Amino acid sequence: MPVKWWTHITDLIYPPLCASCGLLRPLDQHIFCLDCLHQLPETGFHMHAENPFTMHFKGRVRLRAGASFLFFSRGGGTQRLLHQIKYNNQPELITTVGKWYGKQLTGSTLWEGIDVVVPVPLHWKKQRKRGYNQSAVFGAAIGEVMHVPCHPNALLRVTHDRSLTGMKRLERVETISSSFVVAKPALVRNKHVLLVDDVLTTGATLESCAIALQNLPAASIRMVTIACGEL
Ligand SMILES: [Zn+2]
Repeated sequence: MPVKWWTHITDLIYPPLCASCGLLRPLDQHIFCLDCLHQLPETGFHMHAENPFTMHFKGRVRLRAGASFLFFSRGGGTQRLLHQIKYNNQPELITTVGKWYGKQLTGSTLWEGIDVVVPVPLHWKKQRKRGYNQSAVFGAAIGEVMHVPCHPNALLRVTHDRSLTGMKRLERVETISSSFVVAKPALVRNKHVLLVDDVLTTGATLESCAIALQNLPAASIRMVTIACGEL
């Protein structure tokens, strides 16, 4: 397909940069340069019913499936990608990553039969400051590829989290669990829900969202995140 002349013009003004290392990348469709693409730390979790992600939630939430797209390590490619998204205000990078991962998920039977995608909500103050919720952008892209609706308002974060540093895991869960309510029960009741978030660290946030959905109840809960730390 011939490249349109205005593409060349915008490339002069905004040269295509790799979403991870920030260096110039070839003028193709991908968001990463070839070096970063080859070193992308994909987990492959989505192909396995039991994996470090699902084990992380064992005994905490009834999960039908769970996976992260990328491993997160300090100073690594995933951190640089998330940094670009957050600080250079590039939500379109999340859309690309979400569609990419959504396609991978549709290749595995573990992810069949999802009715609705539900992103973990940001507190409205944070969302107003940032302008968008990256989990919602990620979820919308996955939903588009899977042909299922994404409802960013199904859950509601009702309070600011207190500082969680120094708290034990159970205390954290209790502190955060009071922060999520199902705001639109009709959208999720008896539905097969895919809960999405940006990064899995302790899992406390995802756990409390899942508990709110389980109590409704939702028919089943699966989870995905863009990245995960050490599990
Ligand atoms: Zn690169």
